Amino acid sequence: MDELAPLARIRVVLCEPSHPGNIGAAARALKTMGLTRLELVRPRNFPHPDADARASGAIDLLHAAYCRDTLDEALAGTSLVCGLSARRRALTPEVADARTAAREIVAHARHEQAAVVFGTERVGLTIEELSRCQRLVRIPADPTYPSLNLAAAVQVLAYELRCACTELGAAAGPQGSVVNPASHEEIEGLIEHLERSMRASGFLHPDRPGRLMQRMRRLLARARPESEEVAILRGFLRSVSEREVR
Ligand code: SAH
Repeated sequence: MDELAPLARIRVVLCEPSHPGNIGAAARALKTMGLTRLELVRPRNFPHPDADARASGAIDLLHAAYCRDTLDEALAGTSLVCGLSARRRALTPEVADARTAAREIVAHARHEQAAVVFGTERVGLTIEELSRCQRLVRIPADPTYPSLNLAAAVQVLAYELRCACTELGAAAGPQGSVVNPASHEEIEGLIEHLERSMRASGFLHPDRPGRLMQRMRRLLARARPESEEVAILRGFLRSVSEREVR
């Protein structure tokens, strides 16, 4: 197998980028490392001449970028989502450094689709966006100022992904990743179903939701269930609600 083939199954998602120049520079960063798929969620100013200028020879990749209304649309079909953030927050997914995460992403992308998600320039990834991620990835940096420019962060991760391909390509045998992992849509379907059931049973009180659903998301992100396991859980939830109706 071509050792760089996993790169075609890794998409880079920029959430609400505000500076078009950064979008162009990110496209260039991807193209230089052999990545091809750029997803933009509600870009503030795009298309824009500054984006074209900074993309330079990667204008083809920039013009092929997908613009989406929601992060969920950008993540459709993926089964591993990693969010890049310099900061730690309460209830975050499992934290990994960029190099370790790149190896996991590439191993996953040998057979499945993966996404790396970047936050907006000013505030970074929101809690809501991070809740879609199974990993929080950090680029090691100086603790007094760890915040890289958006396109610079994209470049570092794209480089690590390329290095991980070469490294894993040289290693023998399959790399351990989940068999038939549940897709982003299947996980979102299960979370929605869980929330509905918890509300119906009164377990989740609409006025006092607390962080229950965030915790459920974190549990599922850690467990990385297979498609069939998600189907079993949903089947069980259905059987319980049918019993209650009877
Ligand atoms: N002011 C924001 C930083 C935004 S930088 C904050 O404090 O979160 C824009 C994006 O680049 C971030 O959302 C993140 O996706 C990425 N980024 C910047 N520095 C990073 C680092 N050290 N590790 C991981 N991602 C980083």
